[in-house]
Amino acid sequence: MNDLIPIYDAILERIATAAQRAHRHPDEVTLIAVTKTHGPDVVRDAVDAGMGIFGENKVQEAAWKIPLSPACARWQLIGHLQSNKARHAVRLFETIHSVDSIKLFDTLEAAARQAGTRPEIYLEVNVSGEVSKYGLTPETLPQTIEHILEKGQALTLTGLMTMAPFDTDPEHARPHFAKLRTLRDEMQTHFGIELPHLSMGMTGDFEVAIEEGATDVRIGTALFGARPKLTRPTLDADTTSGIL
Ligand SMILES: *Cc1c(COP(=O)(O)O)cnc(C)c1O
Repeated sequence: MNDLIPIYDAILERIATAAQRAHRHPDEVTLIAVTKTHGPDVVRDAVDAGMGIFGENKVQEAAWKIPLSPACARWQLIGHLQSNKARHAVRLFETIHSVDSIKLFDTLEAAARQAGTRPEIYLEVNVSGEVSKYGLTPETLPQTIEHILEKGQALTLTGLMTMAPFDTDPEHARPHFAKLRTLRDEMQTHFGIELPHLSMGMTGDFEVAIEEGATDVRIGTALFGARPKLTRPTLDADTTSGIL
């Protein structure tokens, strides 16, 4: 018996209930199972339980894990990306949630053209203004989108992503999620484009995010338990240095 089956079912149930509260169809919400710090054994169990889309926050860790995981698993990058890892990112991930500068976009676009891949990208927006958070400011979003629409060939912009400030009360995240949705609506109108994806909501606040329009919820802890504090031996630089 795979322990993840009842846990996964319970999360799907919570997603469906939150969607219904907002008069949305549960199918509008995609669960991204965040497997960072967990090994391929966990991915295998998750695939057995029915999960199909996985989120990782580090390119190096994903480069190690993906080849050891079931081939049917689909992978998305949710964490901050440095330009020097772009050429790996465009091969490993079907979607990159964390594009946060024109410079990173340009590097990814060139890398995807060279690799012959066509990942989707979301722009990460720091809606809360917290200095510790990555992301574009809402003010720089329009000029970034303008640049992408002009230059993007391999990469397609399909959504926005944000992280709410850490807080034990999910209600405190609500205004930030609402702000991302409003920004999305404004950008769609301003540029006459579709930005169907809103990547927002994690273990502590995904239900509120769904009520505010999230289409992609990124859930780790509620599925796989607390993450190990220390890097596992299998994730050491020694084991991955041959890959990257
Ligand atoms: C780790 C992570 C998550 C998942 O966080 P949980 O609280 O464990 O669900 C979601 N989004 C990003 C960007 C992350 O790095």
